[in-house]
Amino acid sequence: IADRHKGSDKNVWVEFGRLAVEHKAVNLGQGFPDHFPPQYVRDALSDVSNSDSELLYQYTRSYGHPRLVNVLSVLYSRLIQRDIHPMDEILITVGAYGALYCAVQGLINPGDEVIIIEPYFDCYEPMVRAAGGIPVFIPLEPTKSGAVVSSADWKLDPEELTRKFSDKTKAIFLNTPNNPLGKVYRYEELELIANLCKKHDVVVFADEVYEWLIYNPNEHIRIATLPDMWQRTITIGSAGKSFSVTGWKTGWAIGPSRLIYALQKLHQNCIYTCPTPIQEAVAIAFEKEMPQLEKPECYFNQLPLELIEKRDRMVRFLREAGMIPTIPEGGYFMLADYSKLKVDIDYKPDEPRDLQFVRWLTKNKKLAVIPPSAFYSQQHKHLAEDMIRLCFIKARRALATKFYKKKKRA
Ligand code: PMP
Ligand code: GLN
Repeated sequence: IADRHKGSDKNVWVEFGRLAVEHKAVNLGQGFPDHFPPQYVRDALSDVSNSDSELLYQYTRSYGHPRLVNVLSVLYSRLIQRDIHPMDEILITVGAYGALYCAVQGLINPGDEVIIIEPYFDCYEPMVRAAGGIPVFIPLEPTKSGAVVSSADWKLDPEELTRKFSDKTKAIFLNTPNNPLGKVYRYEELELIANLCKKHDVVVFADEVYEWLIYNPNEHIRIATLPDMWQRTITIGSAGKSFSVTGWKTGWAIGPSRLIYALQKLHQNCIYTCPTPIQEAVAIAFEKEMPQLEKPECYFNQLPLELIEKRDRMVRFLREAGMIPTIPEGGYFMLADYSKLKVDIDYKPDEPRDLQFVRWLTKNKKLAVIPPSAFYSQQHKHLAEDMIRLCFIKARRALATKFYKKKKRA
């Protein structure tokens, strides 16, 4: 393994995904739905795969299939409230992962500092390190304890955040709604970050893959829409999350051409172009939803309504089991404090407790979840030791059949 990747060889999805399979556990770990995407999304790809247009079987434009960048430019011009150029201001990538990778590799120089708010989607840290960047961590603080905790109670300390910015700061990751916490940032919180970014000339990597999964009464605010923030923000989205097709691995980065240029140049030499049929099918799916964005039948309005029920059901289930969930305002993950449970585990001091608890839970109770210390830097892993992360978009088949019914019968 090359020196710049040393230390990144452990990966929570690989380790705990394998463990779940090995123990045939109900998998509430890795985040992907257990329901089918809408029928028209499935039809789109099946039609494309039998298309009479021979072009759809071959490579398409490097920076994004024209039909897809065109529809995304119309959609995001509306969402971000400015004219977005389909060719110069959008890059289509292999999932949001690809967009994050191109952003970091395309813009970070060795020695640049990159602020990462904890808990964070785990790949941010190794991506920054592989680029020679220096991650600077700041944890969200749970400001409330007790039986009812919301992700809104987790806050940044404004003074601490201010101290993290310096002349060396090149970028900050902002993930809203956040994975794993479900926090949806408020205007005032975004404004604080935006003002610091403007003061120190910092770029925002705005990971908004859960942009449609917002639970009432919360509102998704794009930091790119704050005053003078378009020119320093890369907004990242995912077809996998938008249409419940995580296996389609199609994502995008949207921003000013001055920044997107760097991502496009990186992309052209490592991926070159993403699969044509998938991009065509995602374009068809967006074209279908575009005219009905404000209507209840829009998939982006329906899915959160289904999910809020699953969220609340999981909250009840966790409380009955003696845990304290943090109720998420968005996304499809939830943290829960398990420390009040009485379990017979001989914890070893050399590893965060959540890892040991999750292994025990998977092996002995056949329930697979994710240890959230994976979303913290080495020095802050202890902050997550009492928690597990659960994914509730799977709740229908996994939880409903196996756990809830068993409980009812008991
Ligand atoms: N960012 C966050 C916050 C995520 O949870 C994920 C996981 N899907 C990604 C990015 C990567 O998305 P994709 O599957 O489109 O690569
Ligand atoms: N985003 C998903 C999660 O957080 C999947 C991550 C992955 O598979 N690498 O569970």
